[in-house]
Amino acid sequence: MRTLDSLGDIKGKRVLVRVDFNVPVGDGKVRDDARMRRALPTLEDLRERGAKLLLVSHFGRPKGNEPEFSLAPVAERTSKLLNIEVLLAEDLDDIPDGDVVMLENIRFQPGESKNDPEFAQRLAGLADYYVNDAFGTSHRAHASTEGVVSLVEHSAAGLLFQSEVDTIQMIMNEPKRPFLAIMGGAKVTEKIGVIERFLELADTILIGGAMTTPFLRALGHSTGDSLCEEEGIEPARKALEQDGYPDGKLILPEDLVIADRLGDDAAVKILDGADVPDGWMQLDIGSRARTRYVAEIRKAETIFWNGPIGAYERKSFAAGSLAIAQALAAHPGTTVVGGGDSGAAMKEFGLADSVTHLSTGGGASLRLIEGAPLPGLDALTD
Ligand code: ADP
Ligand code: MG
Repeated sequence: MRTLDSLGDIKGKRVLVRVDFNVPVGDGKVRDDARMRRALPTLEDLRERGAKLLLVSHFGRPKGNEPEFSLAPVAERTSKLLNIEVLLAEDLDDIPDGDVVMLENIRFQPGESKNDPEFAQRLAGLADYYVNDAFGTSHRAHASTEGVVSLVEHSAAGLLFQSEVDTIQMIMNEPKRPFLAIMGGAKVTEKIGVIERFLELADTILIGGAMTTPFLRALGHSTGDSLCEEEGIEPARKALEQDGYPDGKLILPEDLVIADRLGDDAAVKILDGADVPDGWMQLDIGSRARTRYVAEIRKAETIFWNGPIGAYERKSFAAGSLAIAQALAAHPGTTVVGGGDSGAAMKEFGLADSVTHLSTGGGASLRLIEGAPLPGLDALTD
């Protein structure tokens, strides 16, 4: 992976920087700029070296040029963060000569998602240098993340991109052991490739969240009205078999929080064991499982967490995720959170800054772990 240093002398040059400024916006204002701040070291480094910046980002999923998907509020916040005027360029044909220019939402351009070669060529014509700091979109082969790269003379990964890749590669290739993986969230089929990889590389794997259900079903338990991805049962069964469960690396919750519905006014109780009665659903791990999972975290040296351990958006079902988050925050070792909803949970609990690394690209980091190609990364590697 080429790094910023490889760009050499960029004084007075225009650098196209692909950022991921797809941040929450409401009432014309950026509501959470955490992701923008993560790109500042790269922008500041390039500015200190005298480069002019052309910032390119997507924002939402517009079906064409829809004003509510304008990057105007984001450009305004970027101005504040960089303490310099940021000009918004409506169109590729009309880029003003400012020190920092932001191109309007790249997804307004039909050639972007199609990775259209002609469009990529037009993008490449806007700059001599290309820097990608948008790790979160590196699993997509779009014009601004992949097509453009081979068409510019010099390209490199930004500092955030580099730290995302280095962190994941470090925990996969040379983790300090014991190496613990915690996998939760909704769908086991989305993450089975990652679980299989951890069966090879990790020492222990804790399972939680809705994806627990297919594992329980594969073991012959009844799961009542719990959310269950039926297509996940067979992959879960194979993982258990490959692992030699219960004598392997996988650990399932020994008790569960169950409720009669997913609501704040639900009847809630703890189920000792794993057979969820009809009319009930599992929505969090129970207190014994919580104690066990926290003990596993304390024993480990390197920990990776992806996916909430329960329906954490509601207080009654947040205890499992909160206990994991707090144990990670207090842990002196290497703690990596894979982003997505688990990242949102860390923020919700006010603990986002207490881990070693919180990924800005949930999907991309999972793809990197399972060994799937990341076109945006491959384009920067040779
Ligand atoms: P991530 O984005 O971190 O990869 P996912 O998108 O896979 O996580 O899953 C997050 C969602 O899973 C959350 O909305 C959460 O409420 C839900 N969830 C977690 N555990 C359960 C459960 N036991 N029952 C129902 N939904 C759950
Ligand atoms: Mg998610």
